[in-house]
Amino acid sequence: MQISLKGRNGVILGVANKRSIAWGCAKSLAREGMRLAFTYVGERMEETVRGLAAECEGSIVLPCDVTKPEEIDSAFASIAKEFGHLDAVVHGVAFARREELQGDFHSLSKEGYMIAHEVSAYSLTAIARRALPLMEGREGSIVTLSYIGGERVIQNYNVMGIAKAALEASVRYLAADLGPRGIRVNAISAGPIRTLSASGVSGFTEMLDNIAEKAPLRRNIKADEVGDTCLFLCSDLSRGITGSTIYVDAGYHIMGV
Ligand code: NAD
Repeated sequence: MQISLKGRNGVILGVANKRSIAWGCAKSLAREGMRLAFTYVGERMEETVRGLAAECEGSIVLPCDVTKPEEIDSAFASIAKEFGHLDAVVHGVAFARREELQGDFHSLSKEGYMIAHEVSAYSLTAIARRALPLMEGREGSIVTLSYIGGERVIQNYNVMGIAKAALEASVRYLAADLGPRGIRVNAISAGPIRTLSASGVSGFTEMLDNIAEKAPLRRNIKADEVGDTCLFLCSDLSRGITGSTIYVDAGYHIMGV
């Protein structure tokens, strides 16, 4: 069984800059020969994403705000035209308003709830539906990024915790739905990493310190380590795995408080 991804195509949603976990995933996939389509949100991000994509041979860059169905359709139409088929989808997209990532959970507004769930959870299903025709007969792999705050109460993670619970449930339902077509769907539950999104979570530095103190490996993890697990999940080496959440968190999830 080989890990080489030559001749395979993937789409990566969620690269904002070189700290993004999705960029760690992109580097691992490109290293093994996968051709990649990168998506970005808004004109401000385009230049940075184009700069990073230039490091990955043969890649293309497309706008795709997951709250805009017409933009998703257009991105996948371009992918179909350029690539013909898809073997992998990496979903590294999440958003919640800053005020919803601190303070009392019970003050969560309906609007804040809806925004976080639309971008961070529903989008996985919306993207999978568009990818499906391009993955038919390909034994494709869909990978998303989660966090332990979807299973346990993590201070200040609040609305994103329930969005991650919905995301992980979506992984199981999609895996059951798409498995008969040979498409696998899995999540990576990553330990905390200092990224643009993470900077919105109040008390993030304390979260990092807590992991370094309590996780079995006594350290935090790097985006590259998530990237290599993503590579495994997008390769034939993981061909028997679907519907799973795999932890890349220095072992933190096995510990008591
Ligand atoms: P990041 O800020 O680099 O990436 C988040 C991405 O989501 C950005 O590229 C942003 O453009 C994109 N995004 C936001 N709204 C969007 C929209 N409407 N349409 C399309 N894209 C949109 O941060 P990150 O930490 O690399 O986050 C990637 C994923 O990893 C997220 O799902 C996050 O919850 C998850 N995660 C992060 C950590 C962490 O500690 N950083 C830990 C576990 C899981």
